[in-house]
Amino acid sequence: MINIPALLDKQLEDGYRHSFTPNNRASELGFDCDLYQYFSRTVREKPRPPTRVLRLFHEGNRSEKDLMIRMLEAGIPVEQSQRPFYDEEHRISGHMDLAVRESPDGQANVCEAKNFNPWMYAKMLKLTKEIDGVLHMNTRAFLDEAGFIRKYPGQIQLYIYFMEESETGLWVIKDRATGEFTQMQVELDYDFVNDLLARAKRVNAAVEAKTPPPMPPYEPDRCDRCDWMGWKCLQEKQYAMEGGFIIDEAIDAQLEAWFTAKQAKSSFDKLDKALKARLPDAEGTYLTPAGWSVGVKINRAGSVVRTPKPPQEV
Ligand code: SF4
Repeated sequence: MINIPALLDKQLEDGYRHSFTPNNRASELGFDCDLYQYFSRTVREKPRPPTRVLRLFHEGNRSEKDLMIRMLEAGIPVEQSQRPFYDEEHRISGHMDLAVRESPDGQANVCEAKNFNPWMYAKMLKLTKEIDGVLHMNTRAFLDEAGFIRKYPGQIQLYIYFMEESETGLWVIKDRATGEFTQMQVELDYDFVNDLLARAKRVNAAVEAKTPPPMPPYEPDRCDRCDWMGWKCLQEKQYAMEGGFIIDEAIDAQLEAWFTAKQAKSSFDKLDKALKARLPDAEGTYLTPAGWSVGVKINRAGSVVRTPKPPQEV
């Protein structure tokens, strides 16, 4: 019999494309790790997220579109849906969800929409402060939270800053289970924006120099849910490894081919020679963007022995 859930999952899996941009994304810059930003700017291919994460992305996108339609149907003066922007000086790009202009001659306010499961929705409500009866986003409180939550204030702050029309924005969140909406006001925080712009400049310099920023100290709240977990830098033990990252996309492709050939026992010698000619000579343990580890040792006879291991064995 037809398996509808499996077919729907397959549709999501087949439709997934990692969207790479060579710019700093406004939606990402709030994540406080320069190395993370560097990877996002330089690694073009990323493994497909698990299907359960693709389902959540899909629900999120649909819900945000639905909010826009609901706002239009409710007569709310929405304009500039998904308006793109690019700031050349800092190489920052993004798409604002919506802007709301309450009166024809009034200012437009950036409006960013997100939907959450009930648990996360309740958590977001705790990251607010009430001023004169109006709920405000408590920007700094978000930065003490774990994982992707840290990105949210940076995203809307940069949208407000680059829209250059008003110093206030709106963050509208929805509880996916109950359909309830909550609105938070967001005030432009120039000190915070300046920190984000400075981060963008540091990352630009690192990308230009093709030199990854130094790995920051391991911090569970930041690293354990990092998108770049494939790099294994979220594992504290790796900070003690000698070596470093091999920033060369061709090596990952060669490593994959090398491992496949090794298992199949065919064309192995040829690939082995070509791959090892590209690998470092100095002793140490090296990592690649896809999470491969390459151990390099000099044996007693003085020969360099290079031992690659696939990500799941590191
Ligand atoms: S795992 Fe930690 S150190 Fe590595 S990129 Fe992510 S946040 Fe930065």
